[in-house]
Amino acid sequence: LVSRKKKPENTIIDVKGNLIGGSAQVMIAGPCSVESYEQLRTVAAALKETGIKVMRGGAFKPRTSPYDFQGLGVEGLKMLKEVADEFGLATISEIVHPGHIELAEQYIDVIQIGARNMQNFELLKAAGEAKIPVLLKRGLAATLEEFVHAAEYIAVKGNTQVMLIERGIRTYEKWTRNTLDISAVPLLKQETHLPVLVDVTHSTGRKDILLPCAKAALAAGADGIMVEVHPDPQTALSDAAQQLDIPQFQQLWEGIQQSGLYT
Ligand code: PEP
Ligand code: MN
Repeated sequence: LVSRKKKPENTIIDVKGNLIGGSAQVMIAGPCSVESYEQLRTVAAALKETGIKVMRGGAFKPRTSPYDFQGLGVEGLKMLKEVADEFGLATISEIVHPGHIELAEQYIDVIQIGARNMQNFELLKAAGEAKIPVLLKRGLAATLEEFVHAAEYIAVKGNTQVMLIERGIRTYEKWTRNTLDISAVPLLKQETHLPVLVDVTHSTGRKDILLPCAKAALAAGADGIMVEVHPDPQTALSDAAQQLDIPQFQQLWEGIQQSGLYT
């Protein structure tokens, strides 16, 4: 179902009026985790001012250590809805349990399935029954074939509103948190008709090379970019080292716009 051989034309996904996968690219920005109304409002106001219309923020956080901040859960989803309504933004948030799909439909606009759950087949099947689009992240060690099969699990249940996002894979390289696989972009565009995005934050795990990586992604044909932004990254409850502060994000955004690669 997701194969370009079966459907030659691009799938365009409408996220609250933002068309993803068509002729224009999308910028998705926001904090790693939803932490408070104040934090979320500060980011939402900055996004609105910059003209960015899609905000991310994790409420259910699949953390590597059980002792790390696990997210605000349903409360976080409610905060996303309230702030998104206030600022006229669309929202994306990760869901980790098949039983939480209905909650997602109630509070957010796009269900994110995280890298650690790319092959959580029961979750994929449940997302396949959702009435809202799904943003599927590439697994930490997933081949592109496995990634495409995971998308197919969602589509086969009826939800063909699936977007793929490259977020870096595990390699021996230590200077980045993961290795951004740029070749994934043209290959996924070639093999599937789904929108393909690149998460420059999790793929690099650093703040200083986001502009060239975003430019590379767009030049390779990506339909959008995801970046983590936090009002005060040092105090962030997750991914403190890699989130941009608001001025840094604005600088990145200017650089992307000046590149002429973002239409
Ligand atoms: C995230 O985007 O919040 C996240 C946890 O990323 P990933 O699943 O790619 O590690
Ligand atoms: Mn994060």
